Amino acid sequence: MAACVLIVGQGLAGTVLGWSLSRAGIDWRMIDSGHADAASRVAAGIINPVTGQRWVKTWRIDELWPGARATYRAIENDFGVPLWRELTIRRFWRTEKERRTLLNKIERGVLAPWVQFVDATSCGLAPAGRVNVPLLLAAARKRWLAEGRLVEARFDWANRAKHGGWVIDCTGAAAREGPFAAHGFAVSKGEVLRARVAGLADDEIIHRGHWVLPDDSGEAWIGATHEPGVDDVTPTAEARDALLRSARKLGCERINVSEHLVGLRLAARDMRPMIGVHPADPQLGIFGALGSKGVLYAPWLAQQWVEHIMQRSAFNSDVAARFER
Ligand SMILES: Cc1cc2nc3c(=O)[nH]c(=O)nc-3n(C[C@H](O)[C@H](O)[C@H](O)COP(=O)(O)OP(=O)(O)OC[C@H]3O[C@@H](n4cnc5c(N)ncnc54)[C@H](O)[C@@H]3O)c2cc1C
Repeated sequence: MAACVLIVGQGLAGTVLGWSLSRAGIDWRMIDSGHADAASRVAAGIINPVTGQRWVKTWRIDELWPGARATYRAIENDFGVPLWRELTIRRFWRTEKERRTLLNKIERGVLAPWVQFVDATSCGLAPAGRVNVPLLLAAARKRWLAEGRLVEARFDWANRAKHGGWVIDCTGAAAREGPFAAHGFAVSKGEVLRARVAGLADDEIIHRGHWVLPDDSGEAWIGATHEPGVDDVTPTAEARDALLRSARKLGCERINVSEHLVGLRLAARDMRPMIGVHPADPQLGIFGALGSKGVLYAPWLAQQWVEHIMQRSAFNSDVAARFER
């Protein structure tokens, strides 16, 4: 076992990894440059079991849902903050073709057990999960700063050799400029609104192209845009208008926007997350490319890292760094 693991980045990946290493009794430290551009700062934290116009079951949802739920519940118990909720996504179809595709897939049993009801205009996808990611980051940061595990600074990759043990790159979109840059990641800009929205049900996310998620704080999240290849973090009036238009179509009339947030999602070309070891440095790892589904995948990937560090276990071949093949 390595003497001490250095985690670079305290977004969702670094946070779930740090917590999992602690649980396994592995010594670790963390360096994070602040969350200014962290995708995790703006993540609504939804685990949506069925997505897209073609109603595709989320990759590995049946297998990963129980572990994700157990992990976030354990983390919330440990940190003493409410992180995990289960809700229904009431999704309205936009076209007759979408409706027919849904009914066809239900009939073939492809979407079981995630579609709970279908009515004249919508269906209920459940259970859907929601992790309060900003609260998770804040609770972890507070504890780890107090324990002296976390240093607030930017890690300079030129100094990698000064750290003898494992170094794991959990830098989110910044990984495209770090030691794993050669992999050729893609980014997608995403914008969300935080707003007071009158008349929302507590236990339902409403969805029609975009979604409206009621938060524990009494505010709601309205999101999210996807702009593949766009690499800036400037909020735009176009995105704000599109999100507000969608929310109104979902029946939200009184909306008071309090924040307009932007983040960059990082994805590999095949849209699967990536964990693994650098081909030229056997103790330099990556945990990233979480795309738009990081909340579901992070606990599974963190557990693989724990087993790799402790027992040299192989990573699952679907997510192992593709340049290793
Ligand atoms: C608008 C939007 C909505 C989303 N909604 C959802 C959702 O509902 N459900 C879901 O599952 N996913 C969602 N996502 C995706 C989710 O945000 C990401 O999958 C996940 O947060 C990525 O986490 P990460 O830890 O890899 O990266 P990040 O959160 O970006 O964290 C990286 C951290 O590394 C730090 N860092 C970078 N470089 C250095 C360095 N050199 N030294 C030190 N520190 C460094 C950064 O400051 C940051 O704190 C959404 C994303 C966006 C943009």
